[in-house]
Amino acid sequence: MKTISILGSTGSIGTQTLEIVRRNRDLKVAALAAGHNIRLLEQQIREFGPRLAAVWSEEDAKLLRTAAADLDVEILCGMEGLKAVAACAESEVLVTAIVGMIGLVPTVTAILAGKDIALANKETLVTAGHIIMPLAKERGVRIFPVDSEHSAIFQSLNGENRSQIAKILLTASGGPFRGKKKEELENMRVEDALRHPNWSMGQKITVDSATLVNKGLEVMEARWLFDVELDQIQVVVQPQSVIHSMVEFADGAVIAQLGTPDMKLPIQYALYYPERRYLAGDRLDFAKLGSITFEEPDTETFPGLSWAVEAARAGGSMPTVFNAANERAVRKFLRREIGFMDIYRIIRDCMDAHRVIDNPDIRQILEVEQSVYDMIESRW
Ligand code: NAD
Ligand code: MG
Repeated sequence: MKTISILGSTGSIGTQTLEIVRRNRDLKVAALAAGHNIRLLEQQIREFGPRLAAVWSEEDAKLLRTAAADLDVEILCGMEGLKAVAACAESEVLVTAIVGMIGLVPTVTAILAGKDIALANKETLVTAGHIIMPLAKERGVRIFPVDSEHSAIFQSLNGENRSQIAKILLTASGGPFRGKKKEELENMRVEDALRHPNWSMGQKITVDSATLVNKGLEVMEARWLFDVELDQIQVVVQPQSVIHSMVEFADGAVIAQLGTPDMKLPIQYALYYPERRYLAGDRLDFAKLGSITFEEPDTETFPGLSWAVEAARAGGSMPTVFNAANERAVRKFLRREIGFMDIYRIIRDCMDAHRVIDNPDIRQILEVEQSVYDMIESRW
């Protein structure tokens, strides 16, 4: 029996994680945290019986306490709630399926409490990889990637010597706007950006896929997870999303993981590693597929990727600026307050205005985050 907790249980990764728990009798849920969808969270509490649950606002916590009054569950709120779920005594693994750098402090809390991490929340590694990775090592905590590309890399490294990695080939679908020109992008609406060709995901990451910011965040995520140099990571567009990523080794061999696009595979692999379990779903049919094609990413039209690499090279607090500016810009875009290309303008503005702080600690990272939000509010 393995006991897990989930931050962000009502989202895309969170609900798919619970789908895996539903199909496997040897997984148990100790604690769940979600944002505002208390109706779904209540159903999840009834079905999976965690002893602790958390929502973001005090008001929602009150409503949920009333709705779940017949159940034996403690209900908390705010950052204290997220931290309590992260450190919940009964659980062995924390699935970080929360979106955004709000996941940072609870992830650190979980590592300090000795919990293994099944990491979907890439924003945490982007902003604080230099703190998270050494801390996990020091505490003997394992970090299992859930992001499909990073799971593919992790799977490709099975039984290999990591010092023999020549490079990581990070695949990208190119997103819903692949092939479009800059002028066309100016008029793209929220509905257009949310129409991803291959993956069904939360709104923020879907917009990030349209800007290629997601791939930029993933380059930074890969760099921390696999301890490689930025120059060793090459992004390759593979529009069918069949090859989930690859590793080239010192002798020139390339090992890849392939499959249909289904996040349940990387989630399940992270929870059962090194074991593989049966997973229902479509299988690849290569004859039907016909071909797998490759392209260079169009970083001229979609600077999300090149600016992420620029932020990573600048290092220190710059990845936090890149990430926080993007988070706030995407939120504004989803609320229809700005246009699609304004996402880039906001990120550029914030990066240009920032003076890098080297090796920032958690407090400084959160201060930089807030200063980015303040600057965006004053200018946009
Ligand atoms: P989502 O928007 O579908 O779900 C986010 C979850 O976080 C929801 O349960 C929401 O209630 C919760 N949440 C948000 N703010 C909160 C707060 N303040 N307090 C408590 N809970 C809060 O997002 P998602 O697509 O599942 O993505 C989650 C993370 O996984 C992101 O970091 C994303 O980049 C990463 N990821 C997702 C996918 C995917 O297929 N969806 C793939 C790879 C990586
Ligand atoms: Mg991914």
